[in-house]
Amino acid sequence: MNTLDAMVEFGHEQVAMYSDPETGLRGIIAIHDTTLGPSCGGTRMWPYESEAEALADALRLSQAMTYKSAAAGLNLGGGKGVIIGDSRTQKTEALLRSWGRFVDTLGGRYLTTTDVGTVGRDLETIRQETQHVVGLDVTLGGSGDTSIMTGLGIYMGMKACASEAWGADSLRGRTVAMQGFGKVASHTAEHLLEEDARVFAADISEGALDRARSMGVQVVGVDEIPGMECDIFAPCALGGVINHKTIKQLRCQIVAGGANNQLATPEDGETLHHRGIIYAPDFLINAGGVINAAAEIGQTYNPERARQQTERIYEKMAEVLATSRKNEMSTAKAANMLAEARLASVRKVRGIYRK
Ligand code: NAD
Repeated sequence: MNTLDAMVEFGHEQVAMYSDPETGLRGIIAIHDTTLGPSCGGTRMWPYESEAEALADALRLSQAMTYKSAAAGLNLGGGKGVIIGDSRTQKTEALLRSWGRFVDTLGGRYLTTTDVGTVGRDLETIRQETQHVVGLDVTLGGSGDTSIMTGLGIYMGMKACASEAWGADSLRGRTVAMQGFGKVASHTAEHLLEEDARVFAADISEGALDRARSMGVQVVGVDEIPGMECDIFAPCALGGVINHKTIKQLRCQIVAGGANNQLATPEDGETLHHRGIIYAPDFLINAGGVINAAAEIGQTYNPERARQQTERIYEKMAEVLATSRKNEMSTAKAANMLAEARLASVRKVRGIYRK
């Protein structure tokens, strides 16, 4: 499919491409929708095998950001930046500054932050060339590490699902199997352990497993985790992990985790529903990070406000569960409806026409 056809199909407003042979930068910024405000999403640096693969990722991730911000009640649209390259060997100051100049050409229609392959220090470099950066370190007046609030939001989402499944939202004594134990999973686990849940984790990194053990998390094998008998399966590593193969293995009552784009296809959300497994839509419960970043836009960052807004993920998840129950539809569909309804109502106010 060519770029314009893909944009029409998924509803993107703009795709910008940039090349700077001086620094070796080749990148794409996809702006999905700015109905609610400037598009916001991280810059991902990844050694994509082809331009088509990078473009597909930018399109998919920017669309998910529109849904995430809309469902979270934020005045932000969806965008994403991707840099084609290996962040371990090709990320230089010059390349990041060049990326900043590219971001700046969009005049604030796209606000960038960190994602896979970029860290807080990189934002400081990008910030030398553009104001349109969020999630800077707190010492620079920014909102800092997004994964702390992301972890809190996931925990809130899990509790709302627990209330639906078991009639009470306590997670005490419940078993939670975490696939991936990076930043988000470890912050989620802090809350779970505080509530005396039994947490298990699998990771491909020894460092991550050491951190898990030091927190009192029990380590299990990477291959075992999707099929482990547990109350909650929490994908916290990669996207696409809920697919026609893994769904058959699942032995849990709830799927709730931090990874973006967990469902390999929309049908997988329907299959989970038919199997009676409660699915917490990823963009709904992993919105704590963007909620935190939004709290620094146009105002002094107030962590308490960010925390309160993140805690509301509980209510949003409960609303989605109620819609799912009432209309006998999957939670995946119900969450999409919640986001789309907000977008449609604001488009109406602003006189924006969309199919
Ligand atoms: P991270 O890099 O800190 O953690 C990911 C962990 O997953 C790493 O420890 C890695 O070793 C592990 N991993 C990779 N492949 C694995 C596999 N096959 N099996 C088991 N473990 C594997 O990243 P993070 O910031 O914790 O993000 C985790 C997920 O949450 C990503 O999908 C990310 O897009 C999503 N997310 C992150 C944030 C945020 O604020 N950081 C916000 C929303 C969504």
